[in-house]
Amino acid sequence: MDIYLAPDVPVTGTLIWYLHVCPREVWFMSRGITPYAYHRRLEYGRAVHQRHSDTVPLSLEGIKIDKFDRESNVVIEIKSMSRHLESARAQLSYYLFRLSELGLKAKGQVWVPDESLTEEIDNFNEDEVRNDVEKVKEIVSMETPPQRKWIKFCKKCAYRGLCWGDER
Ligand code: SF4
Repeated sequence: MDIYLAPDVPVTGTLIWYLHVCPREVWFMSRGITPYAYHRRLEYGRAVHQRHSDTVPLSLEGIKIDKFDRESNVVIEIKSMSRHLESARAQLSYYLFRLSELGLKAKGQVWVPDESLTEEIDNFNEDEVRNDVEKVKEIVSMETPPQRKWIKFCKKCAYRGLCWGDER
């Protein structure tokens, strides 16, 4: 699968994650417009990752795996809350596909430690992963961000001020 946005810029798992939250965020991230660094939720997410992730994460181009169980070949994606489970599944599917291309047949697990929630992901849909990668490429190639649209995630989004100012 061709994962390159530019010769040395791959589609990342984070972009796949954002694609399933809000496509506009993909565009912002691709332009280096990062969310407000001290946003409370982002800080909380970073703390959860620091507490539970591997000290030396397994990584390859576009991928940084939070935790990897080498004995059972399980890729664990840590999330601070279960709010974006669908995005987490898509991100993990991307990882599993990329690893399968390297000959590593792994399983996945979304783990939300603070909610004692785990969800196993044994398979991924190759067409859906390819489709996600193409969608990311399409959004990144746009000259302006996708139109803003008020969705259920806007209220607590770190980009809310940028998208909506004082309107909402
Ligand atoms: S505030 Fe809403 S429209 Fe803007 S990036 Fe966040 S989720 Fe998307």
